[in-house]
Amino acid sequence: MSGYADGAISPPWRVLRNRACYTPGKASATTHEREIFTLLPGLSWIDTADIFREQSRANTARVLSRLFNFRTPIDCTAGREALWNYAESLLPKRSARVYNSALLDLGALVCLPRQPKCAICPVKKFCRPNDPQTLPIKKTPRPPKELIEARAFTFRHNRILLEQSSGRWHGMWILPPAQVRSVITRPIHTSIFPFTNHRITLKVFAQPAPRTRARGQGRWFSIAQLASIPLPSPHRRAVEQLLAKRPQKLGSTLAEA
Ligand code: SF4
Repeated sequence: MSGYADGAISPPWRVLRNRACYTPGKASATTHEREIFTLLPGLSWIDTADIFREQSRANTARVLSRLFNFRTPIDCTAGREALWNYAESLLPKRSARVYNSALLDLGALVCLPRQPKCAICPVKKFCRPNDPQTLPIKKTPRPPKELIEARAFTFRHNRILLEQSSGRWHGMWILPPAQVRSVITRPIHTSIFPFTNHRITLKVFAQPAPRTRARGQGRWFSIAQLASIPLPSPHRRAVEQLLAKRPQKLGSTLAEA
């Protein structure tokens, strides 16, 4: 694979590949190299290194499962262990870095997920499967668990009541839990979003401001402040949609207590 011109790979990937190749926690960079990462707007050096390592693992697993015609799902413990045993059996005693780099190039440029370029592959004669595009094998994903979350939209004097999450979105500001007294109460907003292996239905109910609030529980934010505080996307979308509807459609359902 050393015959592949480095110019075939984008500069940030090339830098990471050369300096951090497959060594989690050891990504380091010169100032110049960090500057190259400004080519990836919105991503920090650390983010990019994480993405690179994740992508590297996927590419390596794909190449190895094809080379060995490995038919066990690679996303289960037994599959992962067996695959990395294969990987170790190939690792040369010297120049492991060059070997890792070549494996990455092979996965990124030749052994592509859907259409591997077997005709030009330098390791074709060692490769076993007739149907490489079907590898690697992964477990059939479990169907997502359904969850319903009832949240409160409490709005007063142009301010909205939020609370700081201690759970799923730890530290972020979210709509507080709703106290729904009757099953016939209709939500003013419903949306569905995925979270890990859950499919969550977010139902937001208009609620009056609580008469008393436990210390540290909930905080009022002006509409202008919302842009500068961290809100998880599903809650931000709900808040923005509800504020956009105000006051015409929500009308008296809004708790202008
Ligand atoms: S021969 Fe084809 S499947 Fe095998 S490693 Fe090369 S590109 Fe991948």
